[in-house]
Amino acid sequence: MQTIEKYNFAGKKAFVRVDFNVPLDENFNITDDTRIRAALPTLKKIIADGGSPIIGSHLGRPKGATDKYSLKHILAHLSKLLETNVQFAPDCIGEATAAQVAALKPGEALLLENLRFYAEEEGKPRGLADDASDDEKKAAKKTVKESQQTFTQTLASYADAYVNDAFGTAHRAHASTALIAAYFDTDNKMFGYLMEKEVQAVEKILTNINRPFTAIMGGSKVSSKIEIIENLLDKVDNLIITGGMTYTFTKAQGGRIGGSICEDDKLDLALELLKKAKDKGVNIVLAIDAKVADSFSNDAQIGICRVHDIPDGWEGLDIGPGTEELYADVIRQSKTILWNGPTGVFEFENFTHGSRAVGEAIVEATRNGAFSLVGGGDSVACVNKFGLASGVSYVSTGGGALLEAIEGKTLPGIAAIQNP
Ligand code: AMP
Repeated sequence: MQTIEKYNFAGKKAFVRVDFNVPLDENFNITDDTRIRAALPTLKKIIADGGSPIIGSHLGRPKGATDKYSLKHILAHLSKLLETNVQFAPDCIGEATAAQVAALKPGEALLLENLRFYAEEEGKPRGLADDASDDEKKAAKKTVKESQQTFTQTLASYADAYVNDAFGTAHRAHASTALIAAYFDTDNKMFGYLMEKEVQAVEKILTNINRPFTAIMGGSKVSSKIEIIENLLDKVDNLIITGGMTYTFTKAQGGRIGGSICEDDKLDLALELLKKAKDKGVNIVLAIDAKVADSFSNDAQIGICRVHDIPDGWEGLDIGPGTEELYADVIRQSKTILWNGPTGVFEFENFTHGSRAVGEAIVEATRNGAFSLVGGGDSVACVNKFGLASGVSYVSTGGGALLEAIEGKTLPGIAAIQNP
């Protein structure tokens, strides 16, 4: 497999798929540029070699070309970070863009307009009437798939090499994230530095495991985490199931959960998971106490009670101090740690304590030699909020992509480069 470190981009044009899907405020100021910064090592290496990066990304979920999702809003900031005047192509394909690409000199960079302005990027039809028949849907899908090929070919024709540095979209088989790779031979396609690090971190968690391995799965719903929990049961020694999911398990076991969040249709599933875990010898760690509130609000009255004994009119919005200690004990003894999802409603300042305690225990374990991977939107927000990011081994930039990788799925963006 080709690597970015070995590749010499001198005199070459490289199509670089990045994830510049950054949050913007109402005046189009970037409110968090982490994703842009994450791609800089790759872009800088290409430029330093004397190559020309042709940078492609999506921004948001546009239904067509619209100013709101234009990548022109990030051009100035990207130029500043790259310390070079990045050119902009107001359309990602078309004659004018082809001319801009052709005129690119070694060391010059070109940012293409949002790839998702074209339905062909995702290969999903747009503008179908709500009452479209199955036949109409099928025909529309066929049409977009056909034009997707031309779209992909056009993007590929711009470059001598393809670099994928967009882990956040690696779970999508889109034109620029996966399909384009087919137009480059093995020697001319590779991961960017960020993608390489992400893939290595996932491999470490999935294949190169130092034990005990503890996964901390939080978040609101069992239904959205079920596949990952099932896959983890074959791998982990300890599984801390926390956050809103706690109460579905508690109720399934016959506990009183007051008004806590619960998926009543998942009670049997919760019991099944507990049984599977027992059969596989996995230690499931559930909360013993809860920080409860008399309404879903930061300013609610707060109490601590046993998690199986939450009175009516109260709901669990975080773990209690006993649970914090219980989790921290397990985490501190672990040698591999995966954290996805907060222990409570961490958006409310008064219910951040549990998530902070988990983050701090992970940092301590990491200091003592554990490998820790934090990933999936909200837990990344947690470690950033608590200033703990530098104390963990790896903070993944991929939300859905990371979860799908851990679920054991093959990610098209990775497979397109690893197994061409
Ligand atoms: P997820 O997107 O599934 O990872 O879940 C993250 C969300 O779960 C966050 O927005 C939290 O506020 C929410 N959450 C965590 N614990 C609770 C809880 N006890 N009650 C309600 N929501 C919760």
